Amino acid sequence: MAGNRIRCIAFDLDCTMIDFMSMKKATARAAARAMIKAGLKVKEKELYRRIFETYDEKGIEYQKTFAHVLWKLKKWKDLNEFERIQQAGISAYLQTKFKTLRAYPEVLSVLRRLSKKYRLAVVTDAPRNKAWQRLWLTGLWHFFPLVITYDDTKKFKPHPSPFKLLLKKTGLKPSEILFVGDNLERDVEGAKRMGMKTAWARYGVGIRSRRVREIKTHNILKNFKNLNRY
Ligand SMILES: [Mg+2]
Repeated sequence: MAGNRIRCIAFDLDCTMIDFMSMKKATARAAARAMIKAGLKVKEKELYRRIFETYDEKGIEYQKTFAHVLWKLKKWKDLNEFERIQQAGISAYLQTKFKTLRAYPEVLSVLRRLSKKYRLAVVTDAPRNKAWQRLWLTGLWHFFPLVITYDDTKKFKPHPSPFKLLLKKTGLKPSEILFVGDNLERDVEGAKRMGMKTAWARYGVGIRSRRVREIKTHNILKNFKNLNRY
C-alpha cells in the first residue's frame, strides 16, 4: 500500500541502543568505593542502595546525586570533608562512565545495515549535551543525521511534541515511520498514538518493571538483532 512502507526508523537512545543501566550500576559501585576510600563511614552496599534510591526519587538524570546522598547521611564533620567525599564520588563516576558506556551488542552492525535502506533518527528525553556525549562515546553519532532531544521541544515523550517534530523534520507520514523504544508508555504508546509503527525494545526494560499487558499488539524485540527483519 502506498504511503505505508517504512522509510524512517526512529530510535529512543537510553536502554534502546545504549546499555545505560549497566553503566549506571558500574558507576554507582565505583563511586561508593571511592567515597568510602575518601573517609565516608558507610558500608558499600548501603551507599550503593542510597545512590539508586536517589535515582528513583529524583530521576536517573539527576545531576546532584552524590551531594544529595551525603547530605542525608550527615556523616561528615564540615564542608571540606563533605566536598572531599563528594569529589571522590563524582570523579569515580565520570572515570567509570567513560570506560563503561557502550551500545548493546550488534547495534553498530545492525545500524550499518539499516542505514542503507532507511533514514535513521533519534528521539530522546535526554538533554542535548548528554545525548550527544552518549552518541559520541558509543560511536553511534554518525548514523544519525537527525537527533531530537529534550531541549528541542522541552517536552518528554509521550507528549506529542517530540513526535510531531520528527514528522516535520522528515516530512514523512506517521505510517512511514517505525519507532523503536524500551518504554511502553513513553515510546511505544506515544508513537502509536501519532499513528507510527512501533517496536518495543523489551531487552532494555528492567525485569521488575516489565509489563506484559497489551504486548500482543506490539512488535517485541528480544534483542537489537531482531531489527534485522526490516
Ligand atoms: Mg529509553
